[in-house]
Amino acid sequence: MDLNTLYRAVIMDNYKNPKNKGLVGSDKYHFVHLNNPSCGDDMNVEILIEDGKIKEVHHDGHGCSICCSSASVMSETLKGMDVDKAKELIYEFYELVMGKAPEHEEELGEAIAYMGVKDFPARIKCATLSWKAIEKAISEVEENGR
Ligand code: ZN
Repeated sequence: MDLNTLYRAVIMDNYKNPKNKGLVGSDKYHFVHLNNPSCGDDMNVEILIEDGKIKEVHHDGHGCSICCSSASVMSETLKGMDVDKAKELIYEFYELVMGKAPEHEEELGEAIAYMGVKDFPARIKCATLSWKAIEKAISEVEENGR
């Protein structure tokens, strides 16, 4: 199996069996909604941060396979992580989909599968939508304390 086949399998698996999908909607969570009109992707995320750590990440939305699978991978990658580390990896993911080799390949985990997106510039926004949403959620929590 070549690398592209493996990456495609990761994307399809997360699309068909998304992890951390479904919102709790409790006050404890901070909620952000973003959309990507160019593709019709619509993404909701919620995050629970405690003691500088991301305790929970949930997502819900609809759109293309790149967008929906990426939300699942994002939630698995960032859950349990220190907020500062998460911000670093979010930034690395943006670089990754633009074609830059990541520094923390191990910590990015399945997110590496989106490396091939660089060859399809129109899909970069699909891949990053949930990551942008969670980045916004983190910065809003840091500003407002939830
Ligand atoms: Zn899309």
